[in-house]
Amino acid sequence: MDNLSEKVAELSKRRGFFFQSSEAYGGVAGFQTYGPEGAELKRKLENSWRENFSRKLGHREIDAPTVMPEPVFEASGHLDGFDDMIVECPECGESIRADHLVEDNTDIDEAEGHSTEQIEVLIEEHDLFCTRCGNSLAGVEVEDFNLMFETSIGPGSGDTGYLRPETAQGIFVEFPRLKEYMRNQLPFGITQIGKAYRNEISPRKGLVRTREFTQAELEHFIDPDEDKPDIRDVRDVELKLYPVEEQQKTDGEYIYATVEEAVEEGLVHEWVAYYLGVAKKWYESIGIDMDRFRFRQHNEGERAHYATDCWDAESDIGDEDEDWLEIAGFAYRGCYDLTKHKEYSGDEKDFQIFKEYDEPKVTEQTELNPDMGYFGPEFGDQAQEVVEELEELKEREPEAFEADKVMIEIDGDNYMIPSEKAGFEKKEVKKSGEHIVPHVVEPSFGVDRTVYTVLVHGFAEDKVDGEDRTLMQLSPEIAPTQVAVFPLMDKEGLGEKAREIASNLREKGFSVKYDDTGNIGKRYRRQDEVGTPICVTVDYETLEEDPETVTLRDRDSTMQKRVKISELEEEISSRL
Ligand code: AMP
Repeated sequence: MDNLSEKVAELSKRRGFFFQSSEAYGGVAGFQTYGPEGAELKRKLENSWRENFSRKLGHREIDAPTVMPEPVFEASGHLDGFDDMIVECPECGESIRADHLVEDNTDIDEAEGHSTEQIEVLIEEHDLFCTRCGNSLAGVEVEDFNLMFETSIGPGSGDTGYLRPETAQGIFVEFPRLKEYMRNQLPFGITQIGKAYRNEISPRKGLVRTREFTQAELEHFIDPDEDKPDIRDVRDVELKLYPVEEQQKTDGEYIYATVEEAVEEGLVHEWVAYYLGVAKKWYESIGIDMDRFRFRQHNEGERAHYATDCWDAESDIGDEDEDWLEIAGFAYRGCYDLTKHKEYSGDEKDFQIFKEYDEPKVTEQTELNPDMGYFGPEFGDQAQEVVEELEELKEREPEAFEADKVMIEIDGDNYMIPSEKAGFEKKEVKKSGEHIVPHVVEPSFGVDRTVYTVLVHGFAEDKVDGEDRTLMQLSPEIAPTQVAVFPLMDKEGLGEKAREIASNLREKGFSVKYDDTGNIGKRYRRQDEVGTPICVTVDYETLEEDPETVTLRDRDSTMQKRVKISELEEEISSRL
């Protein structure tokens, strides 16, 4: 673990951002509890996501269960294929994620797309060892391990269910009701923020890879022939892109392009580029350092076979060395998910949308009305077979029926049939529309990894009056507390005045903390460490002056300024 992540973990534990859960019972890897500051930070981050990816874009949010029955995951492919590669040390029994073992110990950056056999070869070639006991893993079998947590629903043996490994299936499965709610009109977007569960082989670094985590996902259902993203709001947003071709070069570079350029130059699928633009703006607003951020394209091995284009948002959470972490994925998933549920649920039309044409379309259809009074006596037992052959001929070569006779072949024998006995007819049919399977664009965010990135990027150390200081430079948008109000001491009316100010600011909608314990310097440090952008102090001057004033202190610069209480709200609003 590097220095920075250790410092962030220490501060997080001490100040109530996040810590190992069930520690009193020894803890269990992959589960973390958010303390009061972390829970508030996470809630604000989720609300900000909700605002930017749901409300502002006109999408709607749902809340589906976290336990779903087995058939859902048969259809989605998770039961068969939601696996990671595991290698078990024959000496100490440690389970190790095999592709990560390869990535961490060779110059291969992405090993996830390799097969288990290929990973076995790489482990042997590079002579890789157990991360716990150092035993050689050459020749040890690499296996697939399904990441879903299984449970049983109801008493007795019950029905098999699974904790959802992603929130997305809750949206796909409810498509029949959702499309009804949306009055069968495409495009529409459905969002969901909620828990997802994966029985990760090797959880790591606090919030980075846990077994229970929060996702914020958006499924945007579109008509691929008609719907285009409205990129006006993000046209000029500049993206730092790391496309596959650049990743494959030894001296690969980032490509900088605006959303509009990325689409015009064919670098990114138009729908994906649109959401990269929305996401970049959002990440910037919540304080992610854009110098430690990029969009990386999936290579063919990583990309699901049905996805046309897929990019990850990645943040660098390393200290001196880069350590890139996937914090969100953006995929154009085509019609894969709804087609699967259409096939497996047997609800042919429910997973489709009826698309009405502007004008009814007239199409020509052909049909046969065979004269059985002729075929029965003429062909006896073979009559049905003859009619089936004629049906096939009609599909294959309808113009054949324009001749007086048509020829068919059964078991090597040719038969000539009078066309009029086949009852061949052409008909004009009016169609008012057709059923289509919508395509899906999916931006999928990991909330906990975003919280973690915000903490790592916000972490700073400096010196104030010759003393070391630690601070969290959190964006006011998501800081757990926006304003802390202190009386110099809780005496001679100072505490009363400070409580009154705190209460007024709360009334105005700010998140405010009141604190009167310890010396003032310590109180400032405490707020610096939990990322509070502004502190307001009530001192003796406050009560002496007319009009009354307070001291307003800025977290990052530590600069102080006297402000009239009557102008406090305006001053704080403009600073936040
Ligand atoms: P995926 O469905 O694997 O693309 O995951 C979507 C997002 O969820 C990722 O971009 C991550 O940010 C997050 N995520 C996936 N697995 C975990 C995990 N084990 N712990 C925390 N976050 C995760």
